[in-house]
Amino acid sequence: MRNPLQNAAAGITPKSPGGTPGSPGHAPGAGHAAASLAELVTYRTVSIRAGGTSRAGAGGETAEFESFIAALPRLYPAVHAAMELERVNGHALLYRWPGSAVAEDPAAGHRASVLMAHYDVVPADDPGEWTHPPFSGHNDGTFLWGRGTLDDKGQLVAILEAAERLLLAGYAPAHDLYFSFGNNEETAGNSAAAAADLLAGRGVLPWLVLDEGGAVAGGAFPGVSRPAAVVGVAEKGILDVELLTRDPGGHASTPPRMGATARLARAITRIERSPFPQSLPEVTAEMLRRFGPHTPPPLRAVFANVALLRAPITWLFGRLGSETNAMTRTTVAITTLEGSSGANVLAATAKANANIRVAVGETVEGTMALLRRIIRDPKVELHVVEGNGPSPVSPSSGAQWDLLADCIGQVFPEAIITPYIMMGGTDSRRFTGICGAVYRFAPFFMDVRARGSIHAVDEKIGLETLEQGVRFYETLMREL
Ligand SMILES: [Zn+2]
Repeated sequence: MRNPLQNAAAGITPKSPGGTPGSPGHAPGAGHAAASLAELVTYRTVSIRAGGTSRAGAGGETAEFESFIAALPRLYPAVHAAMELERVNGHALLYRWPGSAVAEDPAAGHRASVLMAHYDVVPADDPGEWTHPPFSGHNDGTFLWGRGTLDDKGQLVAILEAAERLLLAGYAPAHDLYFSFGNNEETAGNSAAAAADLLAGRGVLPWLVLDEGGAVAGGAFPGVSRPAAVVGVAEKGILDVELLTRDPGGHASTPPRMGATARLARAITRIERSPFPQSLPEVTAEMLRRFGPHTPPPLRAVFANVALLRAPITWLFGRLGSETNAMTRTTVAITTLEGSSGANVLAATAKANANIRVAVGETVEGTMALLRRIIRDPKVELHVVEGNGPSPVSPSSGAQWDLLADCIGQVFPEAIITPYIMMGGTDSRRFTGICGAVYRFAPFFMDVRARGSIHAVDEKIGLETLEQGVRFYETLMREL
């Protein structure tokens, strides 16, 4: 049972009027979060995939990661005075805020929680297209512009800002609280796995893990006018499979029947014509049930009876569009193609990459077996390049879920709160082996346009949106 007065107090942040941001003993003033994020956006912490492995960046890029890390103690002095900080795997950061109850009762350490974010970003390849340069951190009084503001430096700043305010207000959490900040999420790097291994090696099995993923989404569902706080309880698997065909090769003037390229093309057409089987995951059915009362009448009746109408809803999802289709099955996208390098030379080998998103409940082995059956040609070689199966599903009820829902409800009272399955991947999947309550949610309002700007042009965060995110973490940290 939480103290409602304590919760109410969480929204009232002591301000130091006219005080220097970050000056010791005073809570950071209004605008401190935005000013910090603006500075952190200017460090070009672009993670680059090289030869299938990720790295923080070579040469000058490593310097950007170092500059980012070096700025944090200056921006958040109270956090860096109170919390232990260690580097993981080079440039990932793991903070520990010792719980106040752990000193008297070591067992309380078992209720440790982990708040996650990542500070690497994808490149901004077309800076000329941006309204304000992508690494400028331009503040126009309403929005803070730049690569990483939403994905995911904004979340990192909201966490640190909330902790700084609580520390300066004399607060410490009851249980150990960890912040795990990744440096290679965008390249599916191994820092988060290293952090999870480190914690597991110390016997820390977190009670709750919260990472990026969902958001408070406007226009998330057709016909629903209220925003939806979508909390990821699971994520699909991501698998890259190379399709390879071979041929003796030779001159293009005397082509054989079914050469390497034709064989590969036939395999690709077969994949395109035979989608993986459909099903409506229980989490998605639960989401429809929660949206139901807020949809217009015909849909409302349908979603109130999801259990009875599961088969036709699933069928419909497969035909409504690519997003709803992806919610009901494993999907395969052929992303790269390679044949001969000469216009008049037959291909000795032809290759394609299949980027496969494995549905929750399926396995890598089962997916590969079905792919072989769909291609039905033993001369097409299949090689798993990299990837992993889907994550386990965290519960949409119970103490951790209720706590999250309660904190979301306090900061976003208008939002419909619902679990969902993420189509993309996050670092948090590395923690599912040591924690049964892994959730994916950024406490930021994002309309359709904001969501479309992630990994694209004109990424920006509203100043009020950032402040709401800080308030969410303050509310949450008081309960951990
Ligand atoms: Zn991200």
